[in-house]
Amino acid sequence: MNLGVVLNRVFRINDNPLFHYIAQHKEEIEQLAMIIPIENMDDVSNVKKQYYYNLVGSFVATLKQYNIQPFIVNYNQLGNLCQRLDLTHILMPKDIMSFNNEENDYPHVSAELKKHNVQIIGLRVNHYFQPSLTFNKQNEPYKVFTSFYKANRDKVINKPNYSYELTALSKLCSDGQNKTNIAFDKNYNIERQSNKTWQDFLSNDIAYYSRNRDDVSQSYVSGMSIDLAYGLLDITMVINDLLENYPNDEENYEAYIRELMFREFYYVLMTQFPNTAHQSFNEKYRKLNWSYNKAHFKAWTEGNTGYPLVDAAMRKLNRTGHMHNRLRMVVSQFLTKDLFIDWVWGEAYFKKYLIDYDNASNVHGWQWSASTGTDAVPYFRMFNPSTQGERFDKNAYFIIEELSIFEDVPSKYIHHPMSYEQTLQQTYGVELGKDYPKAIVDHKTSRAHVMSKFKNIGK
Ligand SMILES: Cc1cc2nc3c(=O)[nH]c(=O)nc-3n(C[C@H](O)[C@H](O)[C@H](O)COP(=O)(O)OP(=O)(O)OC[C@H]3O[C@@H](n4cnc5c(N)ncnc54)[C@H](O)[C@@H]3O)c2cc1C
Repeated sequence: MNLGVVLNRVFRINDNPLFHYIAQHKEEIEQLAMIIPIENMDDVSNVKKQYYYNLVGSFVATLKQYNIQPFIVNYNQLGNLCQRLDLTHILMPKDIMSFNNEENDYPHVSAELKKHNVQIIGLRVNHYFQPSLTFNKQNEPYKVFTSFYKANRDKVINKPNYSYELTALSKLCSDGQNKTNIAFDKNYNIERQSNKTWQDFLSNDIAYYSRNRDDVSQSYVSGMSIDLAYGLLDITMVINDLLENYPNDEENYEAYIRELMFREFYYVLMTQFPNTAHQSFNEKYRKLNWSYNKAHFKAWTEGNTGYPLVDAAMRKLNRTGHMHNRLRMVVSQFLTKDLFIDWVWGEAYFKKYLIDYDNASNVHGWQWSASTGTDAVPYFRMFNPSTQGERFDKNAYFIIEELSIFEDVPSKYIHHPMSYEQTLQQTYGVELGKDYPKAIVDHKTSRAHVMSKFKNIGK
């Protein structure tokens, strides 16, 4: 066979199931082309775009060290490339949920390539479970996380390493070129850095994970979502590492594995209910009469709602492309409850800015907060953004990082600016409405509004 291998978002030299497959089938391969189709990043923030381009550059440079010169094309040139190289087969990932454009996913690309008479070989490279093997006795996907977790936790086991030698495989490869107009010239080895960060997390912060992961002022989380979204680390190897150290600290390791199981749970659901990418999972809530108030939405995106924790989180997202999980819950609840704006708007905004964007986790995260999803937070358990600040950013260290206007203000005032308007102005020189926005909505009033909207649905 003349085999093309699609490597976008499997940006790793180590533990790469695509390379393992090639090694297993090398006798059948007459011609081999490593291909990196490039995603269109016109719609995303500059920070995210730059991260992606740097990553491609870093991967290309690493491949070069193994004498592999990949073909770099835009996604819409992939079919033509197959024709030009006379490829008979394409090996590609079938489970990536983090593409910036839906058209780059497995169903779309494989349908397109079949038009060019190419046979597709799809491999799972980015998730642990094959969806159908996680189903319940009725052969249906679990819709409640705890049941999914209980039923599938025993299937999380140590698995064998992949086996291949890249230098040997490189001898089969044709030399490609960069056919895009983007220069990928990053030399810094991001995969190595990713492995180091992961090992550092295992040696240090995981010991505090269970107790402190919600504290937004310090980082006890792993930051691995980016590495998983771009395929810098292999999930099977991540699990192997966790299981190896598990007996030393069951509580923290289990807490971490549980979070990875959330990612798998949402992945399985998205493969079975792809319509929920744009529609409420709970059909009843498709009739909710959301607000589409553009001024409110703008204030939320810019971090100008007058709720410091929400504003600091949004400003950090805009600046860096990152947001802590607790803050994602807080800002998504604020948008969908306090402002009662359709979660679809928030989901799209996150997609544009989050470097670790993943369709399944993002959509289900949003639907959890909006109370429209599977196993979602009940609508009457609405977060209070001020008390969330008191609980998870007690000393307001995180808020002050983004809202330096509050640098000299004690945290009790920062978490409730409207209640201390006078003190803020007279003692600390912070005038609400001038130096920092007044709250755009009153939480208590919003709460009453949300309760009535959900209770009276369809009436
Ligand atoms: C509204 C909303 C949107 C979200 N959007 C995304 C997204 O686009 N991409 C994304 O990867 N995650 C998303 N999440 C889940 C979660 O916030 C991130 O995975 C987490 O913040 C990543 O940081 P970390 O790697 O340091 O997490 P850690 O706490 O170190 O967790 C380890 C890993 O477990 C997985 N994980 C942890 N929490 C969750 C969760 N709640 N749901 C699914 N997987 C989880 C991730 O793969 C993460 O890397 C979203 C959550 C919410 C509430």
